[in-house]
Amino acid sequence: MFASKLPNVGTTIFTRMSQLAAETGAINLSQGFPDFDGPLALREAVSRHVLEGRNQYCPMTGLPALRQQVAAKIARSYGVQRDADSEITITPGATEAIFCAVQALIHPGDEAIVLDPCYDSYEPSVELAGGRCVHVPLALPDFAVDWQRLAAAITPRTRLIFLNSPHNPSGALLSRADLDRLAALIRGHDIHIISDEVYEHLIFDGVQHASVLAHDELYARAFVVSSFGKTYHVTGWKTGYVVAPPALTAELRKIHQYVNFCGVTPLQHALADFMAVHPEHVEELPAFYQAKRDLFCELLAGSRFTFKPAPGTYFQLADYSAIRPELDDVAMAEWLTREHGVAAIPVSVFYRDPPADMRLVRFCFAKREDTLRQAAERLCRV
Ligand code: PMP
Ligand code: GLN
Repeated sequence: MFASKLPNVGTTIFTRMSQLAAETGAINLSQGFPDFDGPLALREAVSRHVLEGRNQYCPMTGLPALRQQVAAKIARSYGVQRDADSEITITPGATEAIFCAVQALIHPGDEAIVLDPCYDSYEPSVELAGGRCVHVPLALPDFAVDWQRLAAAITPRTRLIFLNSPHNPSGALLSRADLDRLAALIRGHDIHIISDEVYEHLIFDGVQHASVLAHDELYARAFVVSSFGKTYHVTGWKTGYVVAPPALTAELRKIHQYVNFCGVTPLQHALADFMAVHPEHVEELPAFYQAKRDLFCELLAGSRFTFKPAPGTYFQLADYSAIRPELDDVAMAEWLTREHGVAAIPVSVFYRDPPADMRLVRFCFAKREDTLRQAAERLCRV
């Protein structure tokens, strides 16, 4: 018998629901990705760089021009200077950045605290490093940090706390006050932070993102992760970055150089070109996605789902208690896909111990207006 290192892991819910959507011909609002393309200038830049022969390895740390653009974006967005050479590393996706940061931090027997519901890659990354996740549920209904439970979960073995703001799947945000409170909580402990900020620019209603990058005390012990896939509508490019103080960056790079060595060269050239010419792209994103959120919520108002508009991300949670309360959310997501032609993600899969009475599914609204209209029309008939 083969001794699996991840005995409890199967195929992710994102793969399963996207497959079911394809098989049934349902509109796919499950796995998070846009059904529209990234900017034409960005896509043309890739073709140009491929044709002009920029097809060999780039530096292990990422293309210098792209690291400089990331530093410029950080300075513009958050008013802080992070060094392109010693603090910024380009990775093949945020997922790889998270994996390498975990391997850098976690030794066998260490504990990492995750706030449930949490993104699915965190726990396997911790387990492969020989650590163990301690699950602390976010407080319902707003998915806020339960500070008492978080404080109670810290032990002498705690090495890492994962943050994710804007939060997948709920869209909830951490405030600057939350970051201050966390800093006070872990002061004097040997605890690091992985701050998953892949939705940093998808934040609505005029709220400013409270980034760990701009919180000096937390940043001193943090890896901050982001993804070009979300920000530039190109999830399939699997290109992200991680920002951390020089000593942490050095440890991360020791691992990154053996997991992938480097990211994809022509994509990095194209992103660097685009960012240099279009720094306004990220400033326009909140309004762009807020219009989609508002349209989807307005259309869904005519349905029997109940919901509060998501404060961030491109996901909208919806409660189906008034529709099929007897179905758990996995069954509900399948039923919606098969019987009503709209695929969604069940929220319980992001938990170790999902609340028994939770009746929530997640819809991705990173879609063209006609897709959202067609999907909402179907959902209003449910
Ligand atoms: N973290 C969260 C919370 C995500 O939703 C995603 C997106 N799939 C990722 C990390 C991974 O991003 P990437 O596709 O760049 O690896
Ligand atoms: N982050 C995406 C989501 O939450 C999925 C990415 C993946 O399929 N791994 O839908």
